[in-house]
Amino acid sequence: SPVEVVENLLTRIAEVDPKIFAYSYLNHERAIEAAKKADVTLPLGGIPIAIKDNINVRGEPCRCASRILEGYLSPYDSTVVEKLKNMGAILVGRTNMDEFAMGSSTENSSLGITRNPWDIYRVPGGSSGGSAAAVASHEAICALGSDTGGSIRQPASFCGCVGLKPTYGRVSRYGLTAFASSLDQIGPITKTVEDAALLLEVIAGFDPFDNTSEKVAVPPFSKLLEQLSLKDFVLGIPKEYFIEGIDDEVRQAVTKVIAHYESLGAKIEEVSLAHTPYAVATYYILATAEASANLARFDGIRYGKRAKNYTDLFDYYGKTRGEGFGSEVKRRILLGTYVLSSGYYDAYYLRALKVREKIKQDFSLAFKKCQALLTPTSPFCAFRIGEKTADPLQMYLADIFTIAVNLAGICALSVPCGRSTEGLPIGFQLIGPPWKEDVILALGYIYQ
Ligand code: GLN
Repeated sequence: SPVEVVENLLTRIAEVDPKIFAYSYLNHERAIEAAKKADVTLPLGGIPIAIKDNINVRGEPCRCASRILEGYLSPYDSTVVEKLKNMGAILVGRTNMDEFAMGSSTENSSLGITRNPWDIYRVPGGSSGGSAAAVASHEAICALGSDTGGSIRQPASFCGCVGLKPTYGRVSRYGLTAFASSLDQIGPITKTVEDAALLLEVIAGFDPFDNTSEKVAVPPFSKLLEQLSLKDFVLGIPKEYFIEGIDDEVRQAVTKVIAHYESLGAKIEEVSLAHTPYAVATYYILATAEASANLARFDGIRYGKRAKNYTDLFDYYGKTRGEGFGSEVKRRILLGTYVLSSGYYDAYYLRALKVREKIKQDFSLAFKKCQALLTPTSPFCAFRIGEKTADPLQMYLADIFTIAVNLAGICALSVPCGRSTEGLPIGFQLIGPPWKEDVILALGYIYQ
């Protein structure tokens, strides 16, 4: 029964989570109560799901792993949460993340470090590291994360899970705490491609509360998984993604995946995404610019934490934000306000917007030659805790293969493809044209 499922899961969490710290908040009584009432005839009836800490659930904290949202309780359900509840899902708790989704390792959380279930001395990836770790350690059947520049796919890859970044506009962002509004999308982290398809089917669709969500039909993704034929299917391999610096074992594993698709009848063709070398720089200008504006609302008046000793209003703002935000968030706000400031706007922000357009065009051109692209999800496997914290640029490079997808607004799926000699999961990424989640999901399903 759903109650037994939830009770077993809560026991598992009690055993494992002290070591992993995937959850930042647990919802024992409410989960059991919901399980008692669960309608198992619904598509997600009685299924426990973990939700990233930046997605609002009515009556629960939504801290974005930040001190500044300490004490905040959400007064409403985000659209995705409402949809999950309507389909019978049980929300067990909130998962840890990098503060405001800024990071690639979940080390930037004010609540503590999440560990990789495959090796607890390594990071789970980020920023949805808690969601990926929860699924990998069987502390959740599946989870929701958010992906602004790889934050679903990279942790999924590091933890041996499936992670999907939907097309921009496919899933409502209403109730997702905005980091970079033109890049953010909510998506599933699951154990199988089938589960990812099912979850996407539930959370996708136009929402009048999010004016960037699109009126595009939502296909029954989970029923289309077996529909794809690889005859006449061209899989593109972007040459810029197989550069130096990618770990040998990752390269070998992904090469094997390519050979596997070829053996099943797909045509493999090299393509070029010429502006790839500029993707990380472009992202860090645009994402920080948007973040600096989005985070202006955390001023100590409307939400959460408030500074205690202050002299006037500006001192109050300064102290609240100074005490409330962690160092990575401050770095991003400073960068963002800098690139938007008069005199620099044209040189940075405007130019980055132009490069973003070029990156988008690269993908459109590539998709004239192939129906999907295949790349590694990350250049390396999960790294050691602390290994990259001293050097933000090194950390930023962890997302070199995932970031361009967000800039172009297209969809991508990370699927596990074996493990390194150290036993760490490796993932590959399937990138599809806008609204073609059905294609990449079916491709992933064929492999898995
Ligand atoms: N790691 C990237 C960053 O720090 C992407 C984060 C994300 O997708 N939320 O901005």
